[in-house]
Amino acid sequence: MQSLSRKLSTINHKLFCKAKKYLVGGVNSPVRSFKAVGGYPVFVREAKGSKIYSECGREFIDFCMGYGALILGHSNPKVIEEIKKFLDKGINVGIPTKLEMELAKTIIKAIPSIEKIRLTNSGTEAVMGAIRLARAYTKKDKIIKFSGSYHGSADYLLDCEGVPKDFKKNTITCPYNDVERVQELVEKNKERLAAIIVEPICGNMGVVLPKEGFLETLREICDRYKIVLIFDEVITGFRLNYGSAQEYFKIKADLTCLGKIIGGGLPCGAFGGKKEIMELLAPEGSVYQGGTFSGNPITISAGLATLKILSEENPYKKLENITRYLCENIIKLAKNYGIKLKINFIGSMFSIFFIDKKEVMDYNIVKTQDTKFFKRFYHELLKESIYFSPSGWEANFLSCAHTEKDLEKTLKAIKKTFDKLRGK
Ligand code: PLP
Repeated sequence: MQSLSRKLSTINHKLFCKAKKYLVGGVNSPVRSFKAVGGYPVFVREAKGSKIYSECGREFIDFCMGYGALILGHSNPKVIEEIKKFLDKGINVGIPTKLEMELAKTIIKAIPSIEKIRLTNSGTEAVMGAIRLARAYTKKDKIIKFSGSYHGSADYLLDCEGVPKDFKKNTITCPYNDVERVQELVEKNKERLAAIIVEPICGNMGVVLPKEGFLETLREICDRYKIVLIFDEVITGFRLNYGSAQEYFKIKADLTCLGKIIGGGLPCGAFGGKKEIMELLAPEGSVYQGGTFSGNPITISAGLATLKILSEENPYKKLENITRYLCENIIKLAKNYGIKLKINFIGSMFSIFFIDKKEVMDYNIVKTQDTKFFKRFYHELLKESIYFSPSGWEANFLSCAHTEKDLEKTLKAIKKTFDKLRGK
């Protein structure tokens, strides 16, 4: 067993070394490189249902699920069938199709705060479009975002080298869930604030739920000062329920960004909202936003098929139940082994935080992940064929394809892992 696992890891290592020759860090998006957990990424050959199959011939139960894009699981047969149908008709790029209108109509019906929409190729583009529109609508420049959130890789939303200070001079960062601080910042900047952008549930510092009253306060402040409230629902769109986080929390955003699930596993994004704001967008207005591949029929047919299944089968209660079952049982196991952890979960998303100090901040924001312990936990689980998102700060996702057997196998693997790690 030991030598087999070593052999398999050698295959991954070899592939990773080869990939690094040609791709920066061997990957096309940093978190995939396993930098946060150490070791070498799993190279995937095939993916079906709740499973991924690696190049070295192993099967894993996947809880990363395309970072939340694959709510139906990998390669849902109905989605694949729709994609194939369209492939047979040829690949059209850049010329309107009926499908785009159908997806737009479907989203508008599901999320009533969206009156008009623009489809994009990624969540990043959606966020950039929404912020540009908010600035044009209010004729103001500043935006508030929240620390620990991720809204894609636009310069002015990132903290990294290569972003000129000037690009960020209109971005104000506030701690998530900190109602008093956001009120202070708005008071100070209200003459120049175009938008507040928020993940209604954070998925990018692990899962963090909004404190009671937080989103309501943002809505109220935005109304009072005519600031555009942007909900970044790239993760939460169609994730907790069909009406998305806005329906879940009963708060309407002025603009909403979507991605992930609406593309059914293919590259997609969208932003939409009030007509009077959206109609400033070219060609109706003069705010430019476009993309050669935006609304491409292959993506849209996958997205439409996915939303159709979600609306017909309404799997949300079941997803919530299996997620609760998994998380509550992990908590029980940890307790039995004296392992200190906190699991934040909602709907079908969850994150496990191993607490190294007593530093669980208020409002469920966990400041310190015991990264050393997390790494060991992560790799022990990989050995047991369980694939979690490869960072302690990423969310994990369940899908409609996860079965009871998958959950039992996962719990067994976690028990075995805790057994090994206890006392180390
Ligand atoms: N917004 C949120 C909340 C996200 O989690 C992400 C990506 O994970 C994005 C925006 C960017 O989306 P994309 O990776 O499709 O550009």
